[in-house]
Amino acid sequence: ARVVGVSGVCKTYRTKRGTVTALSDLSFDIADGEFVTVVGPSGCGKSTILKIIAGLMPPTTGTVEVFGDTVTEPRADAGMVFQSPRLLKWRTVLDNVLLPIEILGLPRAKHVPAAMELLELAGVHEFAGMRPGELSGGMQQRVAICRALVHDPRLLLMDEPFGALDALSRDVMNVELMRIWNERRKTTVLITHSIQEAIFLADRVLVMGGRPGTVVAEVPVDLPRP
Ligand code: ADP
Ligand code: ADP
Repeated sequence: ARVVGVSGVCKTYRTKRGTVTALSDLSFDIADGEFVTVVGPSGCGKSTILKIIAGLMPPTTGTVEVFGDTVTEPRADAGMVFQSPRLLKWRTVLDNVLLPIEILGLPRAKHVPAAMELLELAGVHEFAGMRPGELSGGMQQRVAICRALVHDPRLLLMDEPFGALDALSRDVMNVELMRIWNERRKTTVLITHSIQEAIFLADRVLVMGGRPGTVVAEVPVDLPRP
């Protein structure tokens, strides 16, 4: 079944200096359970399409559907990870992970075990009571991944989640992410500027490019899963 349907999307930003066309006639589908990575040169619109899929902003023209509904706002069945962890520094790690639960108005106590289980799966449970500032960037990003998964979304969206890490940490995080993914199996879209990361993680790589941006190639990857 189709989870994400992007159809004829154009996106124009209005700025003081005039308009910037970020996306032109972009179309692609993502199937249930797929792990899709998106690569392409800086400025080709990768973040823009992910934010549109996440419901953080509307397309100028065209439609984006998630689970058959036209996206008009952020959805409870999607989780998002940004390039920077964006953790709230006055909250503990556990309370950061529980943020989507609070936003969705779900009972906190009932979700603490699930949050702790995710922290353990991500190898950061010993930090649960600490503030994010006490953790390294890589550890903070693991926490951000837990936060994106705590409400058990069916769709996981990640915008260069490891872009700020050094090459070695990035390789470790790729293996860790695969381990988490094998356990939780979410339909996933991940933007990266690393071709190696794109191929390691994906069932399919979407290559974007052009000015304004669009999909210029799709590459199926048929590697055995670790
Ligand atoms: P990528 O993620 O591939 O680097 P982006 O989606 O961030 O690309 O940006 C695509 C284009 O849109 C770029 O030309 C960028 O400068 C422009 N852009 C992105 N966000 C904004 C914004 N908020 N206001 C104006 N222009 C923007
Ligand atoms: P992170 O992923 O590190 O948390 P974002 O990618 O959300 O951060 O931050 C980049 C911000 O800059 C976005 O809000 C994006 O829309 C904006 N942006 C990108 N390119 C431009 C641009 N050319 N002009 C104005 N804003 C831009």
